[in-house]
Amino acid sequence: MKTESLCVHAGYTPGNGEPRVLPIVQSTTFKYATTAEVAKLFDLAEEGFFYTRLGNPTVDAVEKKIAALEGGVGALCTSSGQAASMLAILNVAGSGDHVVSSASIYGGTFNLFAVTLKKLGIDVTFVNQSASDDELERAFCPRTRAVFGETLSNPSMDVLDIERFAALAHRHHVPLIVDNTFATPILCRPFEFGADIVVHSTTKYMDGHALQMGGVIVDSGNFNWSEGKYPELTEPDPSYHGLVYTQAFGRAAFIAKARAQLMRDMGCCQSPQGAFYINQGLETLSLRMDRHCRNAEVVAAWLQRHPAVESVNYPRLPEHPQKNLADKYLPDGASGVISFVLRGGREAGARFIDALKMISLQVHVADIRTCVLHPASSTHRQLTDTQLCEAGISPGMVRLSVGVEHVDDILADLQQALE
Ligand SMILES: *Cc1c(COP(=O)(O)O)cnc(C)c1O
Repeated sequence: MKTESLCVHAGYTPGNGEPRVLPIVQSTTFKYATTAEVAKLFDLAEEGFFYTRLGNPTVDAVEKKIAALEGGVGALCTSSGQAASMLAILNVAGSGDHVVSSASIYGGTFNLFAVTLKKLGIDVTFVNQSASDDELERAFCPRTRAVFGETLSNPSMDVLDIERFAALAHRHHVPLIVDNTFATPILCRPFEFGADIVVHSTTKYMDGHALQMGGVIVDSGNFNWSEGKYPELTEPDPSYHGLVYTQAFGRAAFIAKARAQLMRDMGCCQSPQGAFYINQGLETLSLRMDRHCRNAEVVAAWLQRHPAVESVNYPRLPEHPQKNLADKYLPDGASGVISFVLRGGREAGARFIDALKMISLQVHVADIRTCVLHPASSTHRQLTDTQLCEAGISPGMVRLSVGVEHVDDILADLQQALE
């Protein structure tokens, strides 16, 4: 099936007389007749549901749908995007290990990497995505265990050269992990360009209606773990009577370990009800992404012509520094997120946002409703103008998440507020 059809049908195929719509299996536990059957499940010798932290039919259907959309061998839903990034790293790195990450990443991920992983003994070196090969090579060390980047970075809208970063990671025999939240598998499938693991905050476009937190890790099944750097995947796991993930699960070793070991121990699972909401969002994902992208292209071009606007940052615009990468990786559109800078700095940004009527002010993006955020008066208000500029945010910068309303109504509201 093509992507549009996978959005609708993948993950759940009802049998005769069964519910047409994915049922919510609101149960923490599952019944078995004999101890022998339960023992096999606990030994991971047989597949089956026994406790919702490790697997649940509703959550499983969503995992299968997302794995199909990304073209992977398996997926693991988590309670949030943050949990997905955390587990994806902890599945391949521990105390004493090292990760190379693009500096153009979501603020929450930056904190996870720079502060919390550091406390756990994992060091992260941040690199500029457009640095030369030589510079990027210098970021690696013998304990490097992964490379991380975002297809389309939040909020700076930089486009990752996935093929280049995958080649770099593979030269060092480590996987490339890509956060594909803003692009979604509708606009870009990173596995097709050599990425090994994909993570998402499903809280954004996948849900799309701003009603359910969630995350997911997807395994391409393509990375060869057996070159000596990942003993946790290739040597016996004492917490499963000496099971070896690469032997027992083959290409799905990474995602099996993430579930059997990390989800078991850390417990940041998605709920059946939450998975149901995410599935509802996924069913219309391709329709919504199409409208988000078409609206954003019109809005970006319109903003660029407006005298009150100093600059517009959207990867489909000819002036964007990575327009060539956007053409390659995001040929159908670059999501609904645009950032632009108003003339008049911090005060102009705040006045503009207060004057909006239909478009709402909210700390969120990737929602069906057009929304805005003014970093200088909200998320970054403690910073001086100089500090803001050092963080790559100008005082008059507005982050606009273009929704699926009629584009004329979005433009009319922007116009009256700019006036
Ligand atoms: C929001 C976001 C996250 C974090 O996801 P939560 O679901 O909020 O935990 C991670 N990466 C990107 C790119 C995001 O936009």
